[in-house]
This record gives sequence, structure tokens and C-alpha cells, in this order.
Amino acid sequence: MARKVLVLEDESSIRSFIVINLTRAGYEVIESGTGEEALEKLQDNPDIRVALLDIMLPGIDGFEVCRRIRATNTRIGIIMLTARSQEMDKVTGLMTGADDYVTKPFSPAELTARVDALFRRAGGAAPEQAGEIYQEPFLLNTRNRTLAKKGQRVKLTQVEYSIMKMFMENPGKALSREEILDMVWGRDYFGELKIVDVNIRRLRLKIEDNAQNPTYINTVWGYGYKWGF
Ligand code: CA
Repeated sequence: MARKVLVLEDESSIRSFIVINLTRAGYEVIESGTGEEALEKLQDNPDIRVALLDIMLPGIDGFEVCRRIRATNTRIGIIMLTARSQEMDKVTGLMTGADDYVTKPFSPAELTARVDALFRRAGGAAPEQAGEIYQEPFLLNTRNRTLAKKGQRVKLTQVEYSIMKMFMENPGKALSREEILDMVWGRDYFGELKIVDVNIRRLRLKIEDNAQNPTYINTVWGYGYKWGF
């Protein structure tokens, strides 16, 4: 999993400061000095996981860049770089789809902590948090977000992966459909419970020996599902 971060900042001294510190923290940093350039580099590097966006820029500003990124990409983590004198920036930034903000001037430790936190949430666990969950015959790699069954790769969507991870972290526990919806889609997702059943039906086709007679993902009638027995 690439640990790629985009830094958009027009002031070269601040940009170098950020680049040096993130590189030291183990990130591969893509730099840009304008919003237009940042959008191009994001297109060329779809594996960028986190973007740091300065607000005041020549050309389109950081809010506009954020808005344009979010129009097509909901997965990337976005941190706005705000000035202390511009309290309103935080609200505006979050409204346009940013996940977090860092106020200038910031320390290297503060910066990397924020990027690390968002990087993990954006689905790319940092190496020290990486791990594997093994439950015969399944091996879930939480670093690559991949699943293998008897050594054979099972191709999963992001949602299916999240469901598998949830099950494997809760073996033998009956989980209600509401709990599953909260854990996989998030508490702020206002969807129908049916989406849980649809995804589990699809997941069973991929992981069960016989999806008509599932033995791994068991139905708990009138309640939800349970992993294993
Ligand atoms: Ca600036």
C-alpha cells in the first residue's frame, strides 16, 4: 500500500518544511504550488491517500480544490492548512468536504500525527498498525485490505472487506443488522437495513463453499448475522 500524500502549498519554504517532515515520517510526498497542478497530479496518482491543501493560493483557492476533489473522490483524506487569523476557514473547509485542518504555524509532530490519523482512516494502515487476522481457512491482511481463502485471493469491494474485517474481529458474536450498518457504513449513514443483507448475500457467494448453505456467515433469524458458530 502506497503511503502517498499530496502537499499543495504555494510558499516554498513552508512546502519544503512539510515535505521534509512527512518524508522523514515515511511518506512519499507529491508536491504542487497551485491548485490546478494539484488536481492534475491527483489524476496522475490515484493512489494518493491524503491531501494537505493550503487555502490562499494563486489561481483557484484551496476550498475550490477541495470541492473539486470531493466531487469525484470520497475516499481520500483531506487536511486544510489554515492561518490562525482565519477562524472561519475551518468551518468553510469542513463544509467543502475536508476531514481535518491544521493551523499554521504547526510543529512537525502535530503535522505527522494528523496525517497518520487520517491515513489510517483513509484505509491505509500505517506499517506499525498493519496486521493479519487468521481464521482457518481465511487470512485477512489489514495492511493490503485483502482476503485469501486457502491461499487463494478472494476479490472484495471495500464494503465487503469491511464486513469481513468486522466479522473476523467478532467471531461467534451475534451482530444485529443495525450494528453492522453502524460499523461498516458509519453512524451518519442513513440507509436502509436491506443494504446489509444485499452485501452479505454477495459476500457469501464469494467466501462460502456453498452460498445456499452458508457455514461461515450464519443468519441469526430476526436479528442479524454471526461469524462462525
Ligand atoms: Ca498560501
